Amino acid sequence: MLNLYNTLTRKKEAFKPLKGRKVGLYTCGPTVYSYAHIGNLRTYVFEDILKRTLLFNDYQVNHLMNITDVGHLTSDADTGEDKIEKTAKKEKKSAYQIAEFYTKAFLKDCEKLNILPPNIIAPATEYIKENISLIQVLEKKGYTYKTKDGIYFDTSKSKDYGKLANMDFDKLNKTLKAGARIELSPEKRNITDFSLWKFSSPNEKRQMEWPSPWGTGFPGWHIECAVINLKYLGNAFKNETFIPEQAETIDIHAGGSDLIPIHHTNEIAQVEAATGKKFVNYWLHGEFLILKDLRMGKSTGNVILIDDLEKKGYSPLSYRYLVLNAHYRKPLEFSWQALNNAQQGLNDISNFIYHCLLKAKPNSSIKLSPVLIDMQKEFKKAINDDLNTPQALAVFWKLIKKYYKEKLDPKQTYQLASIFDTILGLGLDKIKVFPLPQEIQLLNEKREKMRKSAKWTEADKIRKEIEALGFSVNDTKEGTIIQPKNKI
Ligand SMILES: [Zn+2]
Repeated sequence: MLNLYNTLTRKKEAFKPLKGRKVGLYTCGPTVYSYAHIGNLRTYVFEDILKRTLLFNDYQVNHLMNITDVGHLTSDADTGEDKIEKTAKKEKKSAYQIAEFYTKAFLKDCEKLNILPPNIIAPATEYIKENISLIQVLEKKGYTYKTKDGIYFDTSKSKDYGKLANMDFDKLNKTLKAGARIELSPEKRNITDFSLWKFSSPNEKRQMEWPSPWGTGFPGWHIECAVINLKYLGNAFKNETFIPEQAETIDIHAGGSDLIPIHHTNEIAQVEAATGKKFVNYWLHGEFLILKDLRMGKSTGNVILIDDLEKKGYSPLSYRYLVLNAHYRKPLEFSWQALNNAQQGLNDISNFIYHCLLKAKPNSSIKLSPVLIDMQKEFKKAINDDLNTPQALAVFWKLIKKYYKEKLDPKQTYQLASIFDTILGLGLDKIKVFPLPQEIQLLNEKREKMRKSAKWTEADKIRKEIEALGFSVNDTKEGTIIQPKNKI
């Protein structure tokens, strides 16, 4: 039984998809105007664990992710510049080039973190007609009004507005007003109202703009996600036309917890107003990464990229391992020391896998012993308890200890570790045992001779030579084990 914490109901619930074993999963993608930092990427690692857990529980997952390549303004309250157009000006490139460049960079980072790619990646600019069609339905139903700068959604007309953030309409309005981040444009009826369609400014030529029944402009950030959801998982479009009666509820929608009060609240408001049906059954949110008492974010200037980790010699997977050491619903504090410990932990795990592989060739059809079957159950229980990765890792470490202490069968142990890694995604399947290069073999033989004749200084010198070539040297009771230092 898989239990997940649902932000909407504020409790852990048994997961029940709408269509048997088929699950629709939507994850909010990046706004592609700069590199994703490791704080952003924590959310994608959490969503990857969610997806892998669903697959592990024999669900067929249809994973959809958007790319926000237009309409996300520098302020979430629909003021300021379009983030992508702004970067295009700064970098002297076209808005489309910026979007393409940072989309590729984002997908590359995800690959380095061993995040499984979505089934569908949907850039917002490819669904402009669908956006217009959904806004027309909202207009017909009386949810919209026009201002000088766009078509807005009137949140006071929405039933249960703010339910995801556990605040009613008044409370959410007061809260947003208290937060200095939101400035109320004079024509907006309520502070929580948001733009569905923004008009291009008459003073400035935009690169990304399209004609619409209301005027030339571009869609708002929140409607883009609603449209892509309804198109692929809600089956509510016939070609580019929105058919409200056809809309289906979606199983899971996930994202970072910062999206709850505005972006996801507004996605719900639009879709439920347009369809009259529940939008999403399970809402899952991942917590922040914290750096020196501040949330990591581009606006605070507190940013570390995957590239920065690599430059300092860390494997991106050591960051994944660090993330898995905290529960996704708890803030995680990043420090270089913590990353260092994570890299050490990951190295120890890969040494253990290497050890198993040295002892026996893996064989996936092998049966597990009762002790290992029990550990598999323990692991599954942890991960199915709202994706408790720290607990699942503790089971993994228990397996490693038991392997060395109780001399477990290496084939079976490797088999179980591989099962664990289908969820953890630490890249352990990439570890292979190759014959040592001849140069290393010769050095090793020379070192053995020195050791046998008690020439310790010379032996130690050769050890350093081997290490300088990227190999580690371990003298064990069963002989010397030489292996590559970086296996993944
Ligand atoms: Zn979104």
